[in-house]
Amino acid sequence: MRIGAHVDPADPLAEAAARGAEAVQFFLTDPQSSKTPEPREDVERLRASEVDIYIHAPYRINVASPNNRIRIPSRKLLLTHARAAAEVGAKGLIVHGGHVGGGADLADGFVSWRKVFEYAESEGGFPLPILIENTAGGDNACARRFDDVARLWDEVGRFGAGFCLDTCHAFAGGEDLVGIVDRVKAITGRIDLIHANDSKGGFDSGQDRHDNLGSGKIDPELVVAAIRASGAPAIVETPGGVEGQSADIALLRQRSGA
Ligand SMILES: [Zn+2]
Repeated sequence: MRIGAHVDPADPLAEAAARGAEAVQFFLTDPQSSKTPEPREDVERLRASEVDIYIHAPYRINVASPNNRIRIPSRKLLLTHARAAAEVGAKGLIVHGGHVGGGADLADGFVSWRKVFEYAESEGGFPLPILIENTAGGDNACARRFDDVARLWDEVGRFGAGFCLDTCHAFAGGEDLVGIVDRVKAITGRIDLIHANDSKGGFDSGQDRHDNLGSGKIDPELVVAAIRASGAPAIVETPGGVEGQSADIALLRQRSGA
């Protein structure tokens, strides 16, 4: 079982070492920006590292938007980040499922997702797995309710899309964590990564507010069970820096016997 943390991008390997982590996730740019990633000086070190690298796409990306001035640049930016992520040897690029907003038809969002993969194929394909993450909220979200994830997968499954299951988002999004891995796998056939987070917000609150394991509203045993059942690596995206995240990683290791 490989466990790690979402860390500051300045020196991810040092952050991993400080936490005793076997995996790290970080952003290649300011997550609130639409910037193109700059070449990194530590590319060779990242590629050679035994630490598994995951890259999180910027929050600004919403490939499902009905607004073509958001949707089209999002599609392109996702491919740009995918190429930059592959450059550093990442195992996957995580991107939120996105949303179509109030008054729009969610069906159009799923079709837009299909177009993301068609566009990428026309450009030579994604150079690494794209892991679509479930979200806690979002106005008319593509990947909050698992019924919608099923409709999404009808469009993207054939392209080899991957799935990142965030336990905070699932809980706050109104999906029961008991037996969740089986329910996801029945839809997607795969879970590539677990975001192992507790939730400050209550069940079905729609609030994307991560908390340290055991400090929020989720029974940590259910997070451990999800990691175990999935067999996937886990990343904590929790507060508290080295101290807070090291405690979360230790809790996961202890309770899972890893
Ligand atoms: Zn997450």
